[in-house]
Amino acid sequence: MAQEDTFKKIVSHCKEYGFVFPSSDIYDGLAAVYDYGQNGVELKNNIKQYWWQSMVLLHENIVGIDSAIFMHPTIWKASGHVDAFNDPLIDNRDSKKRYRADVLIEDQLAKYDEKIEKEVAKAKKRFGESFDEALFRQTNPRVLEHAQERDALHARFEKALNDNDLAEIKQIILDEEIVCPISGTRNWTDVRQFNLMFKTEMGSTAEGASTIYLRPETAQGIFVNYLNVQKTGRMKVPFGIAQIGKAFRNEIVARQFIFRMREFEQMEMQFFVRPGTELDWFKKWKETRMAWHQALGFGAENYRFHDHEKLAHYANAASDVEFRMPFGFKEVEGIHSRTNFDLSQHEKYSGRSIKYFDPEANESYTPYVIETSIGVDRMFLSVMCHSYQEEQLEGGDTRVVLRLPAALAPVKLAVLPLVKKDGLPEKAREIMDDLKFHFNCKYEEKDTIGKRYRRMDAIGTPYCITVDHETLTDNCVTLRDRDTMEQQRVPVGQLRSLIEDKVSITSLLKKLQ
Ligand code: ATP
Repeated sequence: MAQEDTFKKIVSHCKEYGFVFPSSDIYDGLAAVYDYGQNGVELKNNIKQYWWQSMVLLHENIVGIDSAIFMHPTIWKASGHVDAFNDPLIDNRDSKKRYRADVLIEDQLAKYDEKIEKEVAKAKKRFGESFDEALFRQTNPRVLEHAQERDALHARFEKALNDNDLAEIKQIILDEEIVCPISGTRNWTDVRQFNLMFKTEMGSTAEGASTIYLRPETAQGIFVNYLNVQKTGRMKVPFGIAQIGKAFRNEIVARQFIFRMREFEQMEMQFFVRPGTELDWFKKWKETRMAWHQALGFGAENYRFHDHEKLAHYANAASDVEFRMPFGFKEVEGIHSRTNFDLSQHEKYSGRSIKYFDPEANESYTPYVIETSIGVDRMFLSVMCHSYQEEQLEGGDTRVVLRLPAALAPVKLAVLPLVKKDGLPEKAREIMDDLKFHFNCKYEEKDTIGKRYRRMDAIGTPYCITVDHETLTDNCVTLRDRDTMEQQRVPVGQLRSLIEDKVSITSLLKKLQ
């Protein structure tokens, strides 16, 4: 099945099974804003819990906060967002569609890579076992030609971005003959900068009201609380502050479902270190974060690092964790070495000293910062994309199964009486009443047992138990495994110990030790 078709199926699956709905659905939705449904919110909460606990429980020197979305407007001046939180936009005059100019060029760069991969795949097929891929990549004239074109474009693009040269960015789009995917034409406007922050007013009267922003990242809430936390928590550098919260960006083009939203959620951790040690910590946090992703068991081949072409104004190193989505490798998380830019700026704009006296080094300094910043929604999407599978079963049947990591699954156990009579529902309820305190259980008695299993597969429930007539005499149930569909007879008294450990966040956290 084409990747595009798979993605469409995932999007409709998300709606059909109560994971993600378009916002304001009965009013036909609101562009790039989504709501999480009854199953989505559970999955999202589990992702957040996995992240939070991996930061705050597993690191003695990381604590959490929850800062307000509204902040003093000067913060966004100090951080550089008022002047520089822009994306370059370009319009196609024929389709009237708006694009991010940098994304158009990045897509073009990816096309050269696709051409190279096609050549390699073709040769692999032709030469079979004896194929030396590394040698082919180094010597094949067509591969070398595409690589040269890509590298030349890359260098030109990087320079234009660093010089902030909008005319050159447009010229690249013209020279590369990039067309609008809707109109198919090259009738482009000039490239303009567009600030992504949403504004609103605080205060009731025109004179008294002041313009404030909806935060475009949660990080600044951490920086402006650095002193409060460091002093009240008696924290010693190196230490970190973690936060999960909403962020808002007026994205120019909102595409690909919950990948790029205008209201989204971030999980950010700022780690404060001694100046000069930041690149070691940067490396360490890259490894730590990659291990967190890979503990989910989606396969190391589905992740890669992407080092940034253009460093943000505050960074001296930056790398993204990318995940293989159905629409290619895409950023899920950013890891940035932010220097002491933010704290120094807040010192300057607030007039307050944010120096740290380091008793070991016997000196005062403004700490440097390593940031790990991951989007909850993008993480959710990557989990969904990897877990969604259509399976052919013996006997010609098919099933849709969400192979979610058990610790993230919205429902851990379905409790199903075989029939709706003969005392089976009462027995099932009794089991449920005991287990519901330990993990999320769902009771279902409607439809045939086969249909109920399929519904549970579709929302990723790792275990189902069936209560049948024998249960009333032997106090055993049939435990069914989502992935293998194997069934075993187990005593009711053993259910908790069999299941609890496998479905808990702790089982994931232990893989990180
Ligand atoms: P992009 O290049 O895709 O716009 P970014 O590099 O601007 O992303 P950061 O500012 O580094 O993103 O934000 C950190 C994380 O927040 C990203 O890795 C992503 O997971 C998430 N994120 C950023 N913008 C959005 C958005 N509009 N919708 C959903 N998640 C987002």
